[in-house]
Amino acid sequence: TNVEDWARSDIYHNSFLIPEDPVLDSALKNSAANGLPEIAVSATQGKFLHLQARSIQAKRIVEVGTLGGYSSIWLGRALPEAGVLFTLEININHAKVAEENLSLAGLSSKCKVIVGPGYESMVNLPSAQKFDLIFIDADKPSNLKYFTEAKRLVRKGGVIIVDNVVRFGRVADLEQSDPNIEGVRLLLNNLKGDQDVDATTIATVGEKGYDGFIYAIRN
Ligand code: SAM
Repeated sequence: TNVEDWARSDIYHNSFLIPEDPVLDSALKNSAANGLPEIAVSATQGKFLHLQARSIQAKRIVEVGTLGGYSSIWLGRALPEAGVLFTLEININHAKVAEENLSLAGLSSKCKVIVGPGYESMVNLPSAQKFDLIFIDADKPSNLKYFTEAKRLVRKGGVIIVDNVVRFGRVADLEQSDPNIEGVRLLLNNLKGDQDVDATTIATVGEKGYDGFIYAIRN
């Protein structure tokens, strides 16, 4: 089965579970029109993040890697009135497009785009109050740095999700290597025996091909 068939599978399931959404569609169109790469999460994945946030009644969320704000919209919509999402982005053009898209989605008051290197932004986040959910989806070689900082920021029982950890199975193929693959391997090596979290990898398939995410709960 090839990626087109898996895209068809997403389309089929989404036709029952995810209604047409002009706001999300225009966010993707606006992103493409501004030259952003088409590497946002899929609708199925975005909705999963949204449901995760709701299932733990997340009020404070951090996202590392904003792009055009597509996943930010899914997460932001899960927040209650007084909730907040900080989404961290190094690329000023991406951040500008994300702000436009979040504004069109009516989420500007809850969702704050912070421009700068994700790690430094995490270090400087207001963390007197801990966060409920942290979604890591930026430069993959820095996964471990982000995860370590996420453990500091997240509350006990809070959730950390790391995207793109399967990479068409290449992470597990030891004959292959690139900085993204090594970024995932380094994180996995450090998770082994890490008493701070309980974690699992959920492999996924759909319009983005074969991939998956790490889902971790802070002990
Ligand atoms: N979460 C987005 C979504 O699903 O809609 C997709 C994020 S995209 C895969 C990764 C983003 O991380 C890009 O916009 C890229 O500019 C940003 N990025 C890369 N290096 C970064 C860094 N050091 N700090 C913060 N953001 C970074």
